[in-house]
Amino acid sequence: MRFDEAAERLGLDDGIRKVLRSPAMEVTVNIPVVLDDGRVEVFTGYRVQHSIARGPAKGGIRFAPDVSLDEMRALASWMTWKCAVANIPFGGAKGGVICDPAILSDGELERITRRYTAEILDFIGPERDVPAPDVSTNEQTMAWIMDTYSMHKRHTVTAVVTGKPLTLGGSRGRREATGRGCLFVALQALKKFGMKPEETRVIVQGLGNVGGTAARLMQGAGFKIIGIIEYDGAVLNQNGLDVTALARHRTETGSILGFSEGEDADRDEAFLMPCDVLVPAARENVITSANAGRIQAKILCEGANGPTTSAADAILAENRVFVIPDILANTGGVTVSYFEWVQDRQGYFWNEKLVNTRLEEIMIESFEDVISYAAKHHVHNRTAAYMLALDRVASAIKLRGLYA
Ligand code: GLU
Repeated sequence: MRFDEAAERLGLDDGIRKVLRSPAMEVTVNIPVVLDDGRVEVFTGYRVQHSIARGPAKGGIRFAPDVSLDEMRALASWMTWKCAVANIPFGGAKGGVICDPAILSDGELERITRRYTAEILDFIGPERDVPAPDVSTNEQTMAWIMDTYSMHKRHTVTAVVTGKPLTLGGSRGRREATGRGCLFVALQALKKFGMKPEETRVIVQGLGNVGGTAARLMQGAGFKIIGIIEYDGAVLNQNGLDVTALARHRTETGSILGFSEGEDADRDEAFLMPCDVLVPAARENVITSANAGRIQAKILCEGANGPTTSAADAILAENRVFVIPDILANTGGVTVSYFEWVQDRQGYFWNEKLVNTRLEEIMIESFEDVISYAAKHHVHNRTAAYMLALDRVASAIKLRGLYA
């Protein structure tokens, strides 16, 4: 729907729309793996490359019980749009294995990862398709992929994946990059409204890698974090929460609830509290037609992929909520993945300050690109981000022409 609206407004011809709608390549692999108890289990995995028009395909690999080919297709195209909005030279891809990491041992996960990598080996590579971490995969998973790929190539190829451990060609600042990117775009939005961080009240949903980092860095930049929402409830404090202390409390007790420097609250109610910036940074579809009308935030900064439904978009627009859409707000991760790939290929590593400065430049530039596109075409930010992305990818396809 968002794709269609953007394509319509851009006046893209039918042929280009068909190309942009169809993933360029899809592989399904059935991976036999010996479990710890000696049984053999077969796991199904996918890798979908949506587009390579602007460069190698790029995107994460997730391990989850509900992974499906359709979901991979949707997420792969999402990556194409994200890379285009950030204007980094990648297309989009996504991969996954249907499995439940919660019941698998490290050894089993390693064997699944290595066999999956071996099966998709011909389709990935620094010039072709560069995986990264996603749901339930991490630096260790990337190290196994890099090692398996390198063993087959007979030499070490660090640039085949990003999000690796620092000692294996990872980039400084990669782990915090998505949350840091959210901070940079939020600061940019404040400038538009003439607001100062010290006067800005923020509610963050999710204390994981994205939300936890965004909350901590925003607090460091002077914002008042008045609420944190997790799956089992929320914690509020109008004078500002100490995010690091709250994270420590959660590690110790298993929940954010019962924090001595805050009040427990209902999860759904906390979304509707008065605040200036709301950062949904956990699951999809949390802002829907059921709650969008009661959201009081001035700015919605989408740290997660797809937190807002299309029906909610219209309500937020009517209520003049300034939306920093996911394909802009959460591009910090893939942007520093791009830096990691560049550093690996050069064999020359940057210090964290340089990584963060360059991330800031790209986040500010893509924010301004989207905002000016919205003003020029009289559309909301999300439509503008999609139009900008589609325009960039469609131009690349047109310039390359079709090989026949
Ligand atoms: N999985 C992350 C995302 O959805 C990162 C992708 C990457 O770094 O390539 O943006």
